[in-house]
Amino acid sequence: MSTKQKQNLNRAKPKAEANKKIVDVDVFRKVVETMINSTSPFNPARLSDQIPESSYPVEGWSKKATKLMRKREALAAWLRKKFKDDQPSLALADKLENCKPNARCKSPACPECAYATKQWLTGIIKKYLEGQRR
Ligand SMILES: [Zn+2]
Repeated sequence: MSTKQKQNLNRAKPKAEANKKIVDVDVFRKVVETMINSTSPFNPARLSDQIPESSYPVEGWSKKATKLMRKREALAAWLRKKFKDDQPSLALADKLENCKPNARCKSPACPECAYATKQWLTGIIKKYLEGQRR
């Protein structure tokens, strides 16, 4: 290898590293902006945004899904009846009524979303504990 080729290699290395850092900073900035922007419907750092749709029981395939759906509807109706003058309660009732597949409310008060969260977390904890046994 000639001295000129070696010099070119030395010049190329810092450039590649500098470009890599710029990409990392951009990704970091995007993540921070999403986390700070509280109006954003999706926050990758929020636990409820990690719950996959597959953790929800499928309507028509399981009795649990039908039971949870009825429970959610009954809770929304109860909130509307008992707290008709309370704005936050009415907002929660709206949120519960609009919970549907692929557009979940992700409220801890929602029977379907609470069940899905429990299913998902149990699976993760089981995987973790099986890894600890080895
Ligand atoms: Zn829900």
